[in-house]
Amino acid sequence: MMDGVPTPPFAYSPGMLAYSFGPQHPWKPERLRRAVALCSALMPDLVVSEPEGWDEGRLLDVHTEEYLDLVRRASHDPKVDWEDLYAHGIAEGDTPRFDGMYEAASLVCAGSDWAARQVVAGAPVAVNLGGGLHHAQPDRASGFCVFNDCAVAINRLKKRFGRVAYVDIDLHHGDGVQAIFWDDPDVLTYSIHESGRYLYPGTGFTHETGPRGNKFNAPMEPHTTGDTWLMTLRESLLPAIDAFKPGAVVLQMGCDAHTTDPLGHLDLIDREWLDAVRLVAGLGLPLVALGGGGYDLANVPRMWAAAVVVLAGGDPTVEVPVIENWTPRRLLTDVEPEPRRRGWDAAKKVVAELRE
Ligand SMILES: [Zn+2]
Repeated sequence: MMDGVPTPPFAYSPGMLAYSFGPQHPWKPERLRRAVALCSALMPDLVVSEPEGWDEGRLLDVHTEEYLDLVRRASHDPKVDWEDLYAHGIAEGDTPRFDGMYEAASLVCAGSDWAARQVVAGAPVAVNLGGGLHHAQPDRASGFCVFNDCAVAINRLKKRFGRVAYVDIDLHHGDGVQAIFWDDPDVLTYSIHESGRYLYPGTGFTHETGPRGNKFNAPMEPHTTGDTWLMTLRESLLPAIDAFKPGAVVLQMGCDAHTTDPLGHLDLIDREWLDAVRLVAGLGLPLVALGGGGYDLANVPRMWAAAVVVLAGGDPTVEVPVIENWTPRRLLTDVEPEPRRRGWDAAKKVVAELRE
């Protein structure tokens, strides 16, 4: 179907499916399995690579030794002191302990590090859909995120490209990445998300600019539509990138801002979300593309496969070969979006604040 189109280096290991908080939890590893199956079906040339050459020591650039030790111990011992776990964000609810959590979280980081190394070696784009765990903090887990693979990829790119931009289109604020690089002059972070006034993690306001003024946040009101969201991205991200002149980009492709997602209240349809991926790819900079949030199992595989097709320079408006009983007939289900402009005035205010 996509013969002749160069496909990006693509990290995946079935071991990443072990990154799971249980069957009742909204984080479903099945979405990753299906996304990879769909990508492979659409792009016969796609080479799916086990992330090799991972040095676990790279985790120490992002997380404290104490936190890494705790996760390592908890990974195979359910009796680790719960108060210690609780103090480090590992608790029932959002981010509970599970068997093998250290290995699974480390493997996700291995994937993002591998993707970054492909870009360092000259690939224009590389992908790790298992990654994008943007809430993990240096010393604690948060919001389904144990280790921050986005930060691992950024660190890798920094060594080669100097300045790196991190762009986060997830429904939620990329607070962990922002915190890890808060005073780093060489890392711009940009996150567009549903406002922290209404949604976890409660941060990501325009005044959070960091001591170097290179942190950008575009909080959207609930029910903001995709046309408004895209306008905001165009008018605030592009000038920031222009001024910062990064050598490479890490894109977190959470797709929970989609209108059908059960966790949020933004109103993006397929093509609007995909246009954001297109916008970032259009910067023409070396790019590491990661996964992230997304809790509608019917949507996430389609959106991520469409994103990888777009990143490979292909056409996402294609019919999909039947591979399993869940396979969608088409990659994109919705029609060309009509202008709705909900949340427009509030978003214009955000743009004005960011452009200052
Ligand atoms: Zn999210």
